[in-house]
Amino acid sequence: MPNYVISPPQIIGLPIDGTDDLFPVRRVYCIGRNYAAHAIEMGHDPDREPPFFFQKNPNNLDPSGNFPYPPHSSDVHHEAEVYIALKSGGTNITVESALDHVYGYGLSLDMTRRDLQGEMKKMGRPWEIGKAFERSAPCGPVLPVSSLGHPFEGNLSLTVNGETRQTGNLNQMIWKVPEMISYLSEYFELAAGDIIQSGTPSGVGAVEKGDIMIMTVDGLGSLQVNVV
Ligand code: MN
Repeated sequence: MPNYVISPPQIIGLPIDGTDDLFPVRRVYCIGRNYAAHAIEMGHDPDREPPFFFQKNPNNLDPSGNFPYPPHSSDVHHEAEVYIALKSGGTNITVESALDHVYGYGLSLDMTRRDLQGEMKKMGRPWEIGKAFERSAPCGPVLPVSSLGHPFEGNLSLTVNGETRQTGNLNQMIWKVPEMISYLSEYFELAAGDIIQSGTPSGVGAVEKGDIMIMTVDGLGSLQVNVV
């Protein structure tokens, strides 16, 4: 062991469904506007323009089931998203070979301080303050491809206190999973441990302390997150 001058940061490990094993996280990429209906509700053209990405931090992922309402916002939105967990990576990965790099999938939320994101957009500034805050990515366990396969379709929904807010289907993604991996790998060197949040369908909206969010995807189970 080298002699680190301070304690090294903890490796973030996501639970693997049905086991005591953990999936170690290296980076977190998030795609923007990957469902046409959500692009429209955010005031954008739903045409297939090149995808764009932002990042969250590995320790923003939180499998605890609780989401602490963050400071400096009064408009915190849910975005229900399936994530992709990579077991390998590289650069210039072809669409045809992209799925070979996937370890598994899981359910997650891309929680967003929408008011702060909106201010940053207006000023042409980076989005981190709206997106990459503490515990901003509540998530469920990793569901390995070895047991699940690749979910190309499946209804996705998110309820808040039992009321349906978001609905969509994985087959409505503008950029499909292999295309996202391929595109990202042209700009970044992907590697084992990388997570990609795959975008949200329409119906994003605000939550309050005390709310209970339940995300469900056909074949991938459900994720409950309490706003505390
Ligand atoms: Mn999102």
